[in-house]
Amino acid sequence: MTVSVVLFTSDLRLHDNPTLHAALSGADEVVPLFVLDEAIASAGFAAPNRRAFLADCLTDLDAGLRERGGRLVVRTGDVVARAREVAAEAGADEVRTAGGVSRYAQRREERLRRGLESDGRRLRVHDATLTALPPGAVTPNGSDHFAVFTPYFRRWSRERPRDVLAAPRTVPVPATIGSDRVPARADTAGVSEGLAEGGEKAGRKRFAAWKRSGLAAYEDGHDDLAGDMTSRLSPHLHFGTLSPTELVVRARRAGGAGAEAFVRQLCWRDFHHQVLAARPDASAADYRTKHDSWRSEESAGAEIEAWKAGRTGYPVVDAAMRQLRHEGWMHNRGRLLTASFLTKTLYVDWRVGARHFLELLVDGDIANNQLNWQWMAGTGTDSRPNRVLNPVVQGRRFDPEGRYVRRWVPELSGLAGSAVHEPWRLPEAERAEYDYPDPLVELAEGRDRFLRAREKG
Ligand SMILES: Cc1cc2nc3c(=O)[nH]c(=O)nc-3n(C[C@H](O)[C@H](O)[C@H](O)COP(=O)(O)OP(=O)(O)OC[C@H]3O[C@@H](n4cnc5c(N)ncnc54)[C@H](O)[C@@H]3O)c2cc1C
Repeated sequence: MTVSVVLFTSDLRLHDNPTLHAALSGADEVVPLFVLDEAIASAGFAAPNRRAFLADCLTDLDAGLRERGGRLVVRTGDVVARAREVAAEAGADEVRTAGGVSRYAQRREERLRRGLESDGRRLRVHDATLTALPPGAVTPNGSDHFAVFTPYFRRWSRERPRDVLAAPRTVPVPATIGSDRVPARADTAGVSEGLAEGGEKAGRKRFAAWKRSGLAAYEDGHDDLAGDMTSRLSPHLHFGTLSPTELVVRARRAGGAGAEAFVRQLCWRDFHHQVLAARPDASAADYRTKHDSWRSEESAGAEIEAWKAGRTGYPVVDAAMRQLRHEGWMHNRGRLLTASFLTKTLYVDWRVGARHFLELLVDGDIANNQLNWQWMAGTGTDSRPNRVLNPVVQGRRFDPEGRYVRRWVPELSGLAGSAVHEPWRLPEAERAEYDYPDPLVELAEGRDRFLRAREKG
């Protein structure tokens, strides 16, 4: 009897899971293992929204495995120690896992490989699990990764994705392996009120519904803040309850301009993953430094708090920051303009903003979050690092009727149309009726401070 341990990480699904598929093809039995990793919790990365969503994912994965005659084995503690322990208990020859890109994932893999080898076991890593194309699968001449998106997209688009794998019919799990309790969403306090539901079933349902009703309009509608027309699949991609390869294949099969634009966004995700895989230090250090002397939590404390609370006096910025707190998710256009506001208009260190996003985002992801923050801060891969987004212009353009602002900033709901983007223009007496702050800083002043700092850098 041969046994293989499948160590799940960010691939919490049964459909199109190359790691699980390979284990089932090569062994008589498998142990589907998830370790509640104490190192992630103590590093502060297990934010309540992600912990709650993860609990949904594990509950659903366990249910899916049970429908196939198996079950999920959950352990708690150090991931390497627990995986070695379970492999020994099961008499497994090997542990299989998906290849990750963050520094933490790379170290985990290395520690696991060494530990298992010293136990006389093997680690097998499956790279085409978390991204549509494995990081490093395409590289430019003379470098280990693409630093510019457009040439990456061109090369990426020419590659044929691997075949999409069906969910297994049965998953035989050895009866003797014990499990801790599968966590429940209710175990976690401090969760955003509007947090989405996790799990593979919820993810597949969401994709099927959005493919029918949203995909065709995606190209034209993806920047419409009030229309909320994007897929909202990011948490499912982060936890791997949906496979990026399957999404690319199924969107291409549906065809059309909307599908093409959606696939391009999935390529952005792969792009950031391949940058981080090659430069794991970009999670904390500038990818391309501009020698900034950023303002910090000490020097700009009150402004940072106003930004976090959605009280900057710029309605579209405040609307987006409040959406983040309420849902644990924010529209991409909101992420762009709130990040520009913090790093450029307020000239605050991008790491302060990235940390706040990671405290709340259900899709909070080292590759996508840190590298998008760097993009907006102009220390990343953007070829126009000094561009500053003007929140009034952004509001008028992407929320022309002001509906997004009125949804999230109810104090301003009495203001009609796009006037909601500039409450300071109201006559003094009328302005006084609204319990809403004055702008934190003049936009031109903030912009000048940033550009002057960059000239010096
Ligand atoms: C400052 C900032 C921080 C961000 N932090 C995160 C994060 O922590 N996690 C995260 O998944 N995304 C992050 N993004 C990228 C993007 O905003 C979200 O992926 C997107 O808003 C999720 O909504 P959706 O699933 O409806 O996206 P859709 O528009 O439907 O796009 C489909 C998928 O493509 C991928 N995608 C879309 N845009 C990007 C992008 N710019 N970079 C990388 N992948 C992308 C996502 O996986 C997304 O689910 C960030 C963007 C910015 C500007």
